[in-house]
Amino acid sequence: MDKQAVCDTCNARIERAHCYCLTTTTVVLSEAYWRSQFRLATEVVRAFGGAERSQSTVFDGLIRQAAGSTTLWLICEDCSEHFAFDRAAAREHALHGTVPARSGAVDPGGCAQFAAAAWEHVFGRWPSNVQQPTVGDTCDFCAKKVYQGEFAGQLGVEVTERYLASGVLESPPLCPPRAGKGGWLSCMVCMNRVVARASRAEGGR
Ligand SMILES: [Zn+2]
Ligand SMILES: [Zn+2]
Repeated sequence: MDKQAVCDTCNARIERAHCYCLTTTTVVLSEAYWRSQFRLATEVVRAFGGAERSQSTVFDGLIRQAAGSTTLWLICEDCSEHFAFDRAAAREHALHGTVPARSGAVDPGGCAQFAAAAWEHVFGRWPSNVQQPTVGDTCDFCAKKVYQGEFAGQLGVEVTERYLASGVLESPPLCPPRAGKGGWLSCMVCMNRVVARASRAEGGR
């Protein structure tokens, strides 16, 4: 097996020993992944006449292509901050070329909400052909809208202080801790980044 690889989301050259192997499901359920792809596509979006006119071409094309991917994804350390996954297992699969469970293509409809939220973040408008859920809450770390039914996490006061002291968290929450919750609500974009950085800081991978 080739020791060198290319990151399947940012195209950086990486060593297999330093990357992670992810399934299509893990990749396409990540809003942060979609943000990175739509940012890369901003030139194309502009060429098509802006976010509204290019939506069906660029948005639909990208989600059909990614969701339809039957192969595994090799991901670099930086991009690993986009995803929620078992880091040790994903490293083993990358090293040995083994296939994780539940790999293969997924229904593009199942990831449309995640991609739509990212499209809204990057281009300022929700795609017209995806039903927009009601806003349920707001992330206490980045002020992102958290739609009803969207996953979100909690960060307690003690762990937040520890992460701020160690640099895992770059900036403090935007508000005081939530009454009765013992901490803050974190969207998955913020949560996946914190989990990846904490695991690195704590000597993990
Ligand atoms: Zn990458
Ligand atoms: Zn957030």
